[in-house]
Amino acid sequence: MKQMNFITKLLKPKQKIITTTLTITSSNGFHLRPIAKFVNEVKKFDVKVTIIALNQEVSALQVPKILSLGLDKGDSFKLKVDGEKAQEVSSYLSNFFKKLMEDDTKIEIAKQEEESYQSSTIIGHTIAKGVGVAPLVRYRVKMSIDSSRESISIRDAINLTKDELLELSKSKDKNSEIFLAQKEILSSEVFNQDFQSLDNFKLTINSEIEKLKDTKFESRISDYRDLEKRVLKHLGIKYILELPDTPYILLADDLLPSEVEQIAKTSIEGVILENGTLMSHASILLRSNNIPSMIIESKIEDGIYSYIIVDANSGDIILNPTDRDIRRAKEKKRRIKMEQSKSYANRFAPTITLSGRKIKVLANVTDVNSAKEAKEYGADGIGLLRTEFLFSRKKPTLDEQIRAYREIFELFDDITVRTLDIGGDKSLPYINIPKENNPFLGVRGIRLSLQEEILFREQLLAIFKAHGGKRVKIMFPMVSQKEEFKKAKEIAQSVAKEHNIDISNILFGIMIEVPSVILALRVFDKEVDFYSVGTNDLTQYLFAIERTHPTLKVDITSPVVISALKIIIDNTTKPISICGELAGVEEVTKEIIDMGYSNLSVSSKLIPSLKDKIRLI
Ligand code: PEP
Ligand code: MG
Repeated sequence: MKQMNFITKLLKPKQKIITTTLTITSSNGFHLRPIAKFVNEVKKFDVKVTIIALNQEVSALQVPKILSLGLDKGDSFKLKVDGEKAQEVSSYLSNFFKKLMEDDTKIEIAKQEEESYQSSTIIGHTIAKGVGVAPLVRYRVKMSIDSSRESISIRDAINLTKDELLELSKSKDKNSEIFLAQKEILSSEVFNQDFQSLDNFKLTINSEIEKLKDTKFESRISDYRDLEKRVLKHLGIKYILELPDTPYILLADDLLPSEVEQIAKTSIEGVILENGTLMSHASILLRSNNIPSMIIESKIEDGIYSYIIVDANSGDIILNPTDRDIRRAKEKKRRIKMEQSKSYANRFAPTITLSGRKIKVLANVTDVNSAKEAKEYGADGIGLLRTEFLFSRKKPTLDEQIRAYREIFELFDDITVRTLDIGGDKSLPYINIPKENNPFLGVRGIRLSLQEEILFREQLLAIFKAHGGKRVKIMFPMVSQKEEFKKAKEIAQSVAKEHNIDISNILFGIMIEVPSVILALRVFDKEVDFYSVGTNDLTQYLFAIERTHPTLKVDITSPVVISALKIIIDNTTKPISICGELAGVEEVTKEIIDMGYSNLSVSSKLIPSLKDKIRLI
């Protein structure tokens, strides 16, 4: 074993100021929810962290200030960390930020399809697809004052609201981030003052709202209104949305996120907004609650509309539908509901193509929680366990690793664990990789594990101890030459021998993400038990375009990548899967299944729909 490794020791608190450049890679930009999560993370450290962009330096604890920088996809900023362990904190926050960007799912704008109704229609923009048929109800709120309540100060009401939002943000619900974002707004400097009167508080809210008007963050205005409402509630002033008990379509200027939560619990059939935005938190909630909803550019004239249609699939609103229109819309609504619930309801059913081929849809996961989520979404196994996330904050002990692997292994029969894939854009605060000019072409993946042998051996030992005789596949990342694989496997065998563990049920394979492997498949076939194609890195190396590059982009479904997949499957006899993002892109599913791929590993939420897609191939 090499003594000369860049050993896993924490850096001594010597560097006081560390500045790192980070780039926004999410197509949504650096928007409120990731900012709030970032700020919340910064708070955990006792150091001064600032963000420098556009000739401004703002505190990384102030959500509105970061928001006001308006950082978009492709923009970069400097993260300045000042204090003890600056290096460690900077490295941790940089990783956290990159993961935030990766996890920030693109907000899809729904595509509309044609529909022919007899009556004239108002055309709108679709927020959430679906069809609703019901009477139109206008937005009305009633104010109620609870004078029996013990009076509290505005400061106390703000603190109670922050506690309430913190509680809401802890829920497992995927929308909990919205509440964290609201809590962070309320924790910012502008609200950290002793408001002498309610008017004073309302003025502050209004002045923050004024700053957002006519900017790309206009959609955040409703979050400020929501906060105002939440604080007032603690002061005994409630605004109650008046809603019917029977099915209805709601017409409003805009909605607050809390109001969407409220209407979702009623017999709501649809929502029409005269002034909303597609990216607001209310719109996100309308989508996640599957409430057919649209934004219109004109106003709906006053009047009684006893039965209207909101067809958010075609983008039509029909105020005076004919009987035929109503029949057509109701039929469509029934069909959509059936389709929506069908793929989720079918998620555990076998995935068999029309020609009778059984396809496995596996999940890409990072830890115990995401493995549990994969189970919930109907994964047939784990096709890629990215173990680096277990290591990201601090080095886990051997026992912590064993516990995590064991819990994950118990969930599925088919499991592929990838050993640490550090280097390139992924670093660990406690591993010192010397600065390289081209880190993506440097000490990455298996190359680092072979240098950091102590760490590598400990990870292998943890996997062996956790497997308990179960068949587990161990996959090495970034292998480019046969010798790397052979060396890694030899180390694994020596760990097993040293600890007297039977590993006859462990298979060893590699990711195909470096082009050299494609040209040497015959050689690798003699060594490995299996492969998984990592199209994310493979695309980067095929085109020589860094995967996080802010301006240079490659389409992940490029014909070049598709041809590479074809060459791979035609030139190997070993079991093979795809675990890069391409595996979940339904536009190419037929093509890759037809080539012969029978194992696709994707993010959990894509599984039900992908399975349904495959069943029709
Ligand atoms: C890949 O490169 O396609 C892959 C799945 O690995 P990662 O994205 O973790 O590098
Ligand atoms: Mg990769």
